[in-house]
Amino acid sequence: MRILLFGPPGVGKGTQADMLFQKYNSTKFSTGDFLRGQISLSSPLGNEVKGYIKRGSLVPDDIIVKLVKKFLSENRDGNIIFDGFPRTMNQALMLEKALREVDMSVDLAIELHLNEEEIMRRLLSRQHCPHCGKIYNNVTDIQENGEICSTCGHTLVKRIDDDESIIKRRIKVYEEETKPLADYYKSKSVYRCIDASGSRDEVFEKISGIINECTDKK
Ligand code: AMP
Repeated sequence: MRILLFGPPGVGKGTQADMLFQKYNSTKFSTGDFLRGQISLSSPLGNEVKGYIKRGSLVPDDIIVKLVKKFLSENRDGNIIFDGFPRTMNQALMLEKALREVDMSVDLAIELHLNEEEIMRRLLSRQHCPHCGKIYNNVTDIQENGEICSTCGHTLVKRIDDDESIIKRRIKVYEEETKPLADYYKSKSVYRCIDASGSRDEVFEKISGIINECTDKK
């Protein structure tokens, strides 16, 4: 199955993608994680995209499309969970074309929904482990170990784009560029929307229910 998770920043796409890819024995591709990895390596790609991410703008489609094509050429089989891709109509069309070439299509496009006030609350308190990527949010989780990652012991950090004015810009970019994908995936009959205001386990249960239902129909 090819499953897309989309929704505004802070809605929990990354956390859910991590839980799903373990449960469904899938490959996960998070464009945001990949780009942040390149920034921390100070690679030429990282240096190229850093400014866009810091400003809360989307990275240009041509860069993203190149990355996703490479990923797809290396991952032709099995379940794939896309976290934060596609984010524009152009990216959605490119994905459809690339999947069609290998006789595949998007099976589910799941939009996670959350109001702006809750998004702000979550993102302003979000931290992550720069080593293993685990996400901590002291609004929705109780941090087991203060400022230290409970999985690998590294000191937690904040993302460069989790700043109030940048978060507002990212929400606006989402509304303008990504939200319209809902209509596109509705027209393909693969769109589902869930309320992401519950705990990570509650949201995970809802998403798992949708995936199981879709699997049963196949
Ligand atoms: P995320 O981790 O998904 O919140 O993404 C963080 C940032 O990475 C976004 O605000 C964009 O600047 C960039 N980014 C991630 N995925 C994409 C994408 N599919 N298209 C364009 N920019 C992206």
